[in-house]
Amino acid sequence: MSDVDVPESHPRYESLLTRHRIEEGVEKGITSRQGLIAQGRGEAFDYLLGEETIPSADRAERAAAAQLLLAEKPVLSVNGNVAALVPKEIVELAEAVDADIEVNLFNRTEQRMEAIATHLREHGADEVKGLAADARIPGLDHERAKVDADGIRAADVVLVPLEDGDRAAALAEMGKTEIVIDLNPRSRSTEVAAVPVVDNIIRAVPNITRHARELADATPETLTEQIEHFDPDEARRDAEHRIRDGDLA
Ligand code: ATP
Repeated sequence: MSDVDVPESHPRYESLLTRHRIEEGVEKGITSRQGLIAQGRGEAFDYLLGEETIPSADRAERAAAAQLLLAEKPVLSVNGNVAALVPKEIVELAEAVDADIEVNLFNRTEQRMEAIATHLREHGADEVKGLAADARIPGLDHERAKVDADGIRAADVVLVPLEDGDRAAALAEMGKTEIVIDLNPRSRSTEVAAVPVVDNIIRAVPNITRHARELADATPETLTEQIEHFDPDEARRDAEHRIRDGDLA
């Protein structure tokens, strides 16, 4: 048994654990109610993907690790679902690639920003950005445009899991290299990503960390090769093919 009252041998264990964490996130004021809907959409895609990291997603996760290691200023963006599902894992990834963590909410309230920052600190984060909100992403309305000047605004590579399509497009427009984690291979966020990771965040984040640790001593040339060998269109197509034509058995 883990933090949910379901045995790990249960065939839907991972999915039930995920739901439980999102529910808890809502109770703690970390996750919004819209986050519950996003979770439901994600679950449907994950079910059709076979609830596993498909090989093309694993390649995307390796390319994501290489991008984060090569970056001058990598930032990991965290929203209410990400904070509820993988707080410790995000802190571990930030340590592995020397990235900053920034809270970035679609429905921003100071209360929820604080609750998420506190939750991340309880899971080991030293510094959490996003509260200064002293810069803007051009092209978005006021609340959704808020970012930190020395965080996402200055970043060259951003990891944006479960990001809203408008903001993902606006970040790409600013010239950021975006790594998007999203189970929908056709979401607008996935479509604008330099590295689309079509996988459940609960598998994707630890796997990016594992790849980053493996690549920690790689030369910039080797990291660049990893990135150049990765084909984002092929990754999106492969995930969509798996969802539409996959064999559920
Ligand atoms: P877009 O604007 O990018 O087209 P959307 O606004 O329609 O997408 P939302 O309803 O906000 O999308 O849902 C957020 C996205 O997050 C969905 O595409 C969903 O598949 C994805 N998602 C939800 N839970 C997870 C998860 N645990 N791991 C990865 N992706 C997830």
